[in-house]
Amino acid sequence: MEDCVFCKIRMGEIPSTILYKDNDFMIIKDINPQAKVHLIAIPYSHVPYIDMMTEEGTTLLGKILGKISHMQQDLGLTNGYRIVINQGEDAGQTVNHVHIHILGGEKLPE
Ligand code: 5GP
Ligand code: ZN
Repeated sequence: MEDCVFCKIRMGEIPSTILYKDNDFMIIKDINPQAKVHLIAIPYSHVPYIDMMTEEGTTLLGKILGKISHMQQDLGLTNGYRIVINQGEDAGQTVNHVHIHILGGEKLPE
């Protein structure tokens, strides 16, 4: 937790471009965008892997998906978007704090 990049971003110890935040999660720009718009939604609670989340945690993930759909235009995702969660080594998860990638702003590769 102490060495967690996303916890540090939440605490303001690492600067980031914050597009949305409420009491439970924040949406920031990814530092290394893989699409014209590449955002990451980060629940505040430090849980390394999705399979370690409580029901409360997974409920929050659903709430985040709803929020993204309502903010689609504001986030620059006019014509659609792709949601990705990398879970574990095989998926290439590099930050062990559950987060949702939001990709769009252009036609994405299939
Ligand atoms: P993962 O590979 O774990 O699914 O995704 C981690 C994401 O966090 C990567 O897309 C990476 O670019 C992003 N990232 C890593 N460090 C930082 C940072 O300090 N600031 C921001 N905004 N994004 C970061
Ligand atoms: Zn963390």
